[in-house]
Formats: sequence, C-alpha cells, structure tokens
Amino acid sequence: MTIKRLTLALAATLSLTATGAGLAQPAAAPAPAPKVTAQTPPPKLIVMVAVDQFSADIFAEYRGSFTGGLARLASGVVFPSGYQAHGATETCPGHSTILTGSHPARTGIIANNYFDLSTARDDKRLYCAEDESVAGTSSGSGKYAASVKHLLVPTLGDLMKARDPKAQVVSVAGKDRAAIMMGGHRADELMWLVPTGLTSYRGAALSPVAAQAGAAIAAALGQPRPPLTLPTDCAAKDIAIPIDKGGTVGTGRLGRDAGNFRGFMASPEADGAVLATAAALRQVRKMGEGSTTDLLIVGLSATDYVGHTYGTEGSEMCLQMAGLDRELGDFFARLDKAGIDYAVALTADHGGHDLPERNRQNGWPAAERVDPALDADKLGQAVAEKLGLPQPLLYSDGPFGDMYLSKALTPAQRKAASAELLARWRAHPQVEAVVTAEELAAHPVSKRSPDVWTLMDKLRASYNPQRSGDFVVVLKPRVTPIPESGLGYVATHGSVWDYDRRVPMLFWRKGLAGFEQPNAVMTVDILPTLASLIGLPVDATAIDGRCLDLLSGPESSCR
Ligand SMILES: [Zn+2]
Repeated sequence: MTIKRLTLALAATLSLTATGAGLAQPAAAPAPAPKVTAQTPPPKLIVMVAVDQFSADIFAEYRGSFTGGLARLASGVVFPSGYQAHGATETCPGHSTILTGSHPARTGIIANNYFDLSTARDDKRLYCAEDESVAGTSSGSGKYAASVKHLLVPTLGDLMKARDPKAQVVSVAGKDRAAIMMGGHRADELMWLVPTGLTSYRGAALSPVAAQAGAAIAAALGQPRPPLTLPTDCAAKDIAIPIDKGGTVGTGRLGRDAGNFRGFMASPEADGAVLATAAALRQVRKMGEGSTTDLLIVGLSATDYVGHTYGTEGSEMCLQMAGLDRELGDFFARLDKAGIDYAVALTADHGGHDLPERNRQNGWPAAERVDPALDADKLGQAVAEKLGLPQPLLYSDGPFGDMYLSKALTPAQRKAASAELLARWRAHPQVEAVVTAEELAAHPVSKRSPDVWTLMDKLRASYNPQRSGDFVVVLKPRVTPIPESGLGYVATHGSVWDYDRRVPMLFWRKGLAGFEQPNAVMTVDILPTLASLIGLPVDATAIDGRCLDLLSGPESSCR
C-alpha cells in the first residue's frame, strides 16, 4: 500500500481522478510564496507528524539522501538536537510529550506499561492507553479497551477545541498509543491500524471515509508484497548479521506474504496507509478550509517496527527511510494541491540503538546484551526465597526501569527486601545506577538545557508519585535490554542514554525562511511553539516547554 494506491482506491468517494489529486505529482517543494513574517495570519491547518523511533542519529545519517517530504522539512526550521528529555524513552511517554508541552512526570504517562498494585488484576499491569475498568480486559492478553484516561493533561487539540469548538482535530496512527497520546481527549476522529484495516477509539464507528480507507488497507494487506528493490545508496548496508536464535538481519527487502500484518507494519506500506487515510480525511472534512485552524495528527510507526525487527543500520532501515521520504512527499503534494496554508511539525517519540551484534562489527566491540540474571522476576524470586518473603515480590516490565515492591510486605520485610535488591543490582557490572522513589521525589525537575541533564534530572522527568515504582534501575550505555536476539525482535530503545533521547524537530510552512539551530531543544517545546503560531494562549506554569521562535531575524513567532 502506497499513498498513491490507497488514494486511487478512495478516488471514487473523494471525486478524484488519477491526474487530478496530486497522484502523479513529484514530491518537489511548491513554488516560492510570500515570506512568512510576524504579521502573516496563522496557518489554517497544523500537521503534526511523529515518526516512531526516528532518532537524531538516523536523521543525520540519511539527511543528505532525502529528496521527498523529509527533504522539504529539512529545508525549513531544523533543530537537529531535539530531546525527549526524560529517562524512560518509550513510545507512550514520548508521544505524550509532543502535543502537551509536558514531561511524563506531568502527563502521567511514565512508561508503556506500569503497575498499580491496588488494582484487582492479577498481574497488576496497566497499559498506558487503556481503560482497565472495562470488564473482561487485561493489558497482558492484548484484549484491552483503548483509552486516553491515563493522560493527565490537555493536548494542543484539546486547547484548540476549548477556544473554538469548530476547530477540527483528527489523529491517525499506526499504533493506538500514538494516535491517542497526541490526539488527546476531544479529537473528532481518532484511529489506528489493525489487521482488519483501521479501528477507532473505544469502539466508536469509523466515519464513512475512514471505513473505506480501512477496507482498502485490509485489501492491500490481503495481497502479498514482493521484495522491494534496494536503491544503490543502500548497497553498503546490505550485510547479513547472524542473530542468537538463528537467521540473520541486515539484508532484508521488506517483502511479505499475504495477510502478514507484522510484515505490513514493518515497512513503508504502513506509513503510506496512515498518510493516505489522513489526506483523505482532511479532504472530506475540508480541514484547513474553514474560519479557524484545524489540527491533523499523523503517527508513523513503521520506522519503529523496522528498528525493532532488523536494527537501525541495515538494508531494511535504508529501504524504510527511502519509503518514508517518498510517502511524506506524496502527502505534502496532496496538501499543496488543495491550496491550503498549512504548517508542519515533525519529530519522534524516542530515538533508537542498533543491535549489539552489528555494533560489535561496526567499531563498537563493547556493545552487549543484558545478562539474563537481571530478569526482574527471577531476581525477585531469588530474594524472596532467601529472605522467606511472600511472592511475587517484585513487579516490573523488564530488566530495567520502574520496579514495584509487593504491598503484602510488612515494613520490616520491605526494608530487608529493599536492602537485598539494591545490593544485588548495584553489584552487577551492567547496572549504572538504582535510584529510589524517595530520592526522585526530593529532586526538582530540571530547568537546564536537556543536553546537560544529570541521570537524576532525566529520571525525575519520568517520575510521577502516583504511578512510578519504588526503584528505577538504569543499565549502562549500550547494554541492549533484550537478553537473546530472535527473528522479529533484535534491538530496542527505552534507556536514559542520548541515542534514545535525541530526536530531530523540524518545522516547515510555505514561505517560512529556513534556519538551523543545533543547540538542544525539547519535544515539550512543540506545544507552546505551535500554540503561539495560531495565537492560542498557554499557561506557561502548567507546562515544561517554551516557545521556539521560528522566525529568523529580529521578528518572533512567539507572542
Ligand atoms: Zn516508539
């Protein structure tokens, strides 16, 4: 599924023709426009794009080869050192910062999964974007009711709608948590990709065009996709890397069998489907054509699937970057065709890190995988057995991050368990640090630039007293927290280290003079920046970010 194919599938509904909807247009930037100044009226449409796992490193690596949508954005206002400043660099927290102006400490989205030991659920686990009060659901089973209820703050779309109910807010993404955390509490339409095409928030019916897009996506998914042709630029990356459980990564071509949803998601097809759906919804809703500014939110998840499945430096990521660039170019060409004045912001929810097996071959011999002995379940079991304590003793979502001690312990047992766990973690050569909830509660949120944040500063920005664990375990840099690589899951993110924190932040609008600012900024700066662009007041004391002036020269876009 490319944006062109899906657009063709929707053409009858949208009264398009193959020659009349930008289908055959190249992704070149539009003709020069009057220069944007402080007096220029607000854009009629804001397009917020989040590319999952699009690290600053990947952006830098591919920047010179972009010719489509990413080339256009890279000609705008470029902050190559954006930061998802917090410590737990996962998808849900990352998306929660982008349109709220707030660190996860304030958004409440501290991790993809966290624990509430007071729930009736056996495993005590909560998914960040679910409503656990819906009967018959559990996050572990995958049968959960998607919900925004855990997001504690308003999004840009919520604020826009509070100012003017006519403002339209539409959020489309590959993943539910991306669509939900950026879309917020009041989106008009909110949807994400599933094996049957598209699904909507809490079972709400899809609009007719979204339903048709979903059917077209399902039909495309039902067809096999032949392997993609490797561009010449990618040839040097085409090297097979053996992985632990057999097989190799690094030389893939992103082909798939009919109906293979995982293969669909780990390819530019998924991003094309999301972009085509977003473009169709914009058109049918006439977003950007009304009296007030509308907001179109796009979550592109394929880069993350490719990163986890194949790592970040092989032929697969090279193909994904080429596809993402092309699909974004086609998407912008469709918006250009509509003649609306739109502004685009693009960033990522977190960065990423290549698999240790390839890092070791590429000049980083010390890259390694986590010791299976750090498995939190096993560690909790060993400590409980040694001290004669009730089990389960420890709740966690992996070998690092937030760790929760059982509520069944007496104060004396709790003290003994803490001492034993801390001693074991701190003695392990792969552990950088373990900090306690008490230490984090006493640490202020940093007001400094995120490139000089201490470990405590990073962890504090992820700390929420109602939701965080009793301890946070931090692994040393370049320790991949997957003990054994298997086909489908070889590399990941989530650490406090800059390869996972640094993301590009790009802003583009027709007529906006481009400039580059390499100093560190944060994704929490995006909300005040976009709000200012549309004259929307934001309470500066209620957020963590600041407005970035997008006008080079003495004028400012911050008001
Ligand atoms: Zn992610």
